[in-house]
Amino acid sequence: MHQVTLIRGDGTGPEIVDAALNVIEATGVKINWEEAVAGETALEKCGTALPEETLLSLRKTRVGLKGPLTTPIGSGFRSINVALRRELDLYVNLRPAKSYPGVNSLYQDIDLIVVRENTEDLYSGVEHRVGADAAESIKIITRSASERIVRYAFEYARRESRRKVTVVHKANILKLSDGLFLEAARSVAAGYPDIEFEERIVDNMAMQLVQKPHFYDLMVMPNLYGDILSDLCAGLVGGLGLAPSANIGDESALFEPVHGSAPKYRGQDKVNPTAMILTAALMMRHLGEEDAADRIERAVAEVLREGETLTYDLGGEAGTAAMGRAIAEKVQG
Ligand code: NAD
Repeated sequence: MHQVTLIRGDGTGPEIVDAALNVIEATGVKINWEEAVAGETALEKCGTALPEETLLSLRKTRVGLKGPLTTPIGSGFRSINVALRRELDLYVNLRPAKSYPGVNSLYQDIDLIVVRENTEDLYSGVEHRVGADAAESIKIITRSASERIVRYAFEYARRESRRKVTVVHKANILKLSDGLFLEAARSVAAGYPDIEFEERIVDNMAMQLVQKPHFYDLMVMPNLYGDILSDLCAGLVGGLGLAPSANIGDESALFEPVHGSAPKYRGQDKVNPTAMILTAALMMRHLGEEDAADRIERAVAEVLREGETLTYDLGGEAGTAAMGRAIAEKVQG
């Protein structure tokens, strides 16, 4: 029996998590869920957005499944997602973007992976006002964090038979910070002569991903570029409703969809549960439940191909629960 911490999340989080739990149950894999709270929900219940018990639970189970959390914009508490990643040293943010037949999207046959550094860069939270009319945010890049993320990217590429690793940077302008990231990437790449390595400047990369995404395979980059380009990749394959992600460290891993809490649709049984369900499949793989992960991914592909039970973002009229049920039924067979 696996032990997993479950954080249902804010906004539409609990609805998509329910759908994913049904799908997991349909696989027959036994999981002992330890429920914890974070974000707005935790603030209301416990008076703090990241209770100590939540961190304790994640440190104990070492695996978490999490719905999206709401982060106030401009003011209020800092992102709990960022805090969780830093507290647990989840230095990898793995974001696959894959085409599914039946989904109306710009391209077919896309199979891209973004490996995003998850602990530093402009997300270090070091920012301050300079007087009334200026503000400063500090971008932190270290050799050790850069080397370990690039090493993860190459190890992943080797394990998953990926043909090429592209490092994305802006070292032409940010000569010291991105320059250090690029230098670290080059030195790690030298140890993997079996895998093709190339470099792209981030603005050029954005354009190339739109024009010729098939040219790319696995991309590794600092935090901010990864955040933005992974949404771009999700857009290439049909939108955020289909984009799963994993936050991985040496000790623990936390699985969550790429998208946010879509609070305007809260309680409306409207948003697409697929990203959350594909996230559950990534978690199953991490738990060593390869067969369950394959079954979930096949069931998602079938429901998308049939096109009968789709949510609004995919052009359908089904609700969150109905689409989740359709996928769970396919998993059960
Ligand atoms: P969002 O991802 O919630 O929504 C962006 C757009 O995509 C909206 O139009 C939304 O309706 C749509 N969308 C999102 N998920 C969808 C789904 N499953 N199915 C169909 N459509 C979907 O991003 P936002 O509006 O910028 O942010 C809302 C809140 O979520 C903010 O508080 C933000 O900080 C937070 N957020 C959390 C995470 C996380 O927990 N990992 C990630 C991103 C944003």
